[in-house]
Amino acid sequence: MIRDDALKARAKMVIPGGMWGHMNAQALPAGYPQFFEHADGVHIKDVDGNAYIDFICGFGPMILGYNDAEVEAAFEDQRARLDATNGPAEVMVELAELLVETIPAADWAMFSKNGTDATTACVTIARAQTKRRKILVAKGAYHGAAPWCTPRFDGITTEDRAHLISYTYNDVASLTAACAQAGDDLAGILVSAFRHDARHDQEMPTPEFANAARALADQHSAALIVDDVRAGFRIDIGGSWEPLGVLPDLSAWSKALGNGHAIAAVTGNDRFRDAAQMVFVTGSFWCGAASMAAALATVQKLKRTNAISHMAKLGNLLRTGVQAQADGLGIGLRQTGPVQLPIMLFEDDTDFSMGNVFTTTALRHGVYLHPWHNMFLSAAHTEDHIATALVATQHGLEAVAQQFPPKP
Ligand code: PMP
Repeated sequence: MIRDDALKARAKMVIPGGMWGHMNAQALPAGYPQFFEHADGVHIKDVDGNAYIDFICGFGPMILGYNDAEVEAAFEDQRARLDATNGPAEVMVELAELLVETIPAADWAMFSKNGTDATTACVTIARAQTKRRKILVAKGAYHGAAPWCTPRFDGITTEDRAHLISYTYNDVASLTAACAQAGDDLAGILVSAFRHDARHDQEMPTPEFANAARALADQHSAALIVDDVRAGFRIDIGGSWEPLGVLPDLSAWSKALGNGHAIAAVTGNDRFRDAAQMVFVTGSFWCGAASMAAALATVQKLKRTNAISHMAKLGNLLRTGVQAQADGLGIGLRQTGPVQLPIMLFEDDTDFSMGNVFTTTALRHGVYLHPWHNMFLSAAHTEDHIATALVATQHGLEAVAQQFPPKP
């Protein structure tokens, strides 16, 4: 990877470590490119000209595929008229109206740029409304990169985390105990749409857990906050807890909302409207009208088409196909959580060396998978893409079987 290596070397001179955060390819096994030069539909091309079918979709934003014509036309049309200026454009109201109409738990919406903006605003609004401090957070859950939630502790003070209490996802007893610990200082219960911690089997929320979270929040007059940043619009257009019949008070959205354009949203119910109005949240680009136009077009297209059921159907094809291949080779493979957000983890693979062999082999066969993070399907994937992916996964699993022979 000649150009990739050269760019990495140049980056190291002027960017600390060459790259920050979760898109740092150093976190991936050798062979993964850091830099890309082209993306279209479900295809990405690295700077050395290697093309891949992408199953990461930019870590979620690409729900209709890269360069969706309808979304890009809406974005360009708005951008040509105005984007970031002294105040919002009409499209902000249209987008809020569309979200309120689409998301049963939402009576209002506010916009920002990144998922962290949205989760942080949810926590701030919950505290402002309840005039309390404690927020319950599931162990291992990711809610963003601000000091209150970033998974690394460098540069973080204990005071930044002083009012967080942890519980175990899907464990009603631990959630109840955390509520008791918060006592009359409980501001909110923060839950991921489903358990999607990296390097871990995924877990859908059980109905018992979701109902208990709602009931405990009500009992304590606290906020139930669903972080739908990652899963939003891939499980249910009305919100990921909609199929459970549990309505959150506040929800955080981003990633797929604008099909790759920078936008995030907080939605909430009327109980939290005054607090949402009270808190001071803003950003230089939060009124960006072009991303709002992209989001409007994205949500409209998701509603008009069968995007979610299409992703589920293809996700099933991928999951059953890969499972049959693994079973055929006697390899223990665990695939968990919603099929639209697949994860593939190997038995007895604590250091992910099997996952690394699997995914780097697939990469060499033109399919970009992730060894320990959930992946993302898009509405632009087709059965042909899944068939091509299954050729690559077969090679990947054969390499695993060869290097890690199944125990007799
Ligand atoms: N919450 C969840 C569940 C996420 O997956 C992410 C991003 N991976 C965030 C919050 C933070 O979003 P962002 O990186 O856009 O700030």
